[in-house]
Amino acid sequence: MSDSETAIDFSALAMPGVRGLAPYEPGKPIDELRREYGVSEVVKLASNESPLGPSPRAAEAASAAGAAAHRYPDGNGFALKAAVAERHGVPPERVTLGNGSNDVLVLLAQAFLGPGRTAVFSAHAFAVYPIATQTVGATARVVPALPAEAEQPYGHDLEAMLAAVDETVSVVFVANPNNPTGTWLTEGELRGFLDRLPARVIAVVDEAYFEYAAAEPGYPDASRWLEAYPNLVVTRSFSKVYGLAGLRVGYGLSHPAVADLLNRVRQPFNCSAPAQEAAAAALADEAHTRRAVALNDEQRRILREGLEAMGLRVLPSAANFLTFYAGEQAAQIHEGLLRRGVIIRPVAGYDLAGWLRVSVGTAAENRTFLEALAELRPGAA
Ligand SMILES: *Cc1c(COP(=O)(O)O)cnc(C)c1O
Repeated sequence: MSDSETAIDFSALAMPGVRGLAPYEPGKPIDELRREYGVSEVVKLASNESPLGPSPRAAEAASAAGAAAHRYPDGNGFALKAAVAERHGVPPERVTLGNGSNDVLVLLAQAFLGPGRTAVFSAHAFAVYPIATQTVGATARVVPALPAEAEQPYGHDLEAMLAAVDETVSVVFVANPNNPTGTWLTEGELRGFLDRLPARVIAVVDEAYFEYAAAEPGYPDASRWLEAYPNLVVTRSFSKVYGLAGLRVGYGLSHPAVADLLNRVRQPFNCSAPAQEAAAAALADEAHTRRAVALNDEQRRILREGLEAMGLRVLPSAANFLTFYAGEQAAQIHEGLLRRGVIIRPVAGYDLAGWLRVSVGTAAENRTFLEALAELRPGAA
C-alpha cells in the first residue's frame, strides 16, 4: 500500500495521554537563528544555561572520556555516585543517576505513575511534569498557582496542592525554585507541606537551580531531609550552574528502596561516560561554581534594574533567569529580539501569556539584550 492509500489516523492509535501532549518547545538553537535570520552575532539567553560554560576541568574530563568512547559507560556510575553521595553526606544507595534530571523525573513517573493514578503539580510549573505523567497514561492534576499579587506571584500554592491529593495521587512534583516563574518556597513552607503529605505519596522536590538559590534567606536544602521523609525524592542537575547541559547528566536522591525501583526501569547505560567524568570533575571544582553563582547574583540584579527601568514588571527570582511582562507586545518583542540576534523564551505555553523569560548571561550579553529590548520600546502604547 502506498502512503496515499493508507489514511491511517495514527493519532487515534496512540495512547490517549500521548495524544493530548504538546511537544516540549526548546529555546531556539544558535545555528538555527543564524540560518533563518541571517544574523552572525547571536546572544542566547533562552535555556538557562551557564554563561561561564563548564569548568575547564570538566571539559577536559569529557574530552578524555571521548578517547575511550568504544567502551560502554559504567552502568552503575560508581565514581560519580560516590562523589554525589559524599557531597550530600548520604550513602551511594540513595543516588540515582540520570540522562539529565529530566530522565530521573521520567523514571519516577515510570515507577510510580500509570493508568488510574494521578500526579499533582502547579500551574506554570516545569513542562516536563505533564510530559512524564501523561506518557505513562497517568492523569495530570494541575493546581492553580498563587495569585499575581502574592509575595511569590504565580508560585506554587502548597495548600491547594495538598488539598488536591486524594487516594489516586501517587506523585507530587514541586520545583524549588520553579521554572519559568523563578519563584521559590521557604523551609517552613516546604516542611509544613511534607509533614502533612501522606507518606504513600512520592514527593519530588526538583532543585535544578539549587546553587543559585542557596543564599536566599529561608531557602532550604531538601536533600538534608531524606531521613525525615522516606517518600521524599530530591532531583539535582548538572545542566545549570555546572554548565553541562549539552552532556545530559543529573541525579535523584531518595530512600534506597526508591532508588532500587528507579534502577529497575532505568536504561542500563542512561548516563554517558563523558557525562559521568565531566560531572565528577565539575563537582570537585568548587571555585568555578562559586564564580558562576557570583556572576549570576550580580548580573541578575543588573538585568532586573534594566528591565524595571523600562517600566516592566519582573517576577521575583532565585534562579538564573528573570520573567517579565510584555503584555500584548510579547510576541512582537520576542520576534524583534530574534531579528537583532537575541534569543529569549516566550512562556505562553506555560499559561503565562504576555510574559517572557530571559536567562542571566554575561555582562556583555545582558547589555546587548537590554539595548535591543530598549529599541523595541516595551511598555510603549
Ligand atoms: C532545567 C531544569 C531541569 C533540568 O533539566 P536537565 O534534564 O537536568 O537538563 C529540571 N527541572 C527544572 C525545573 C528545570 O528548569
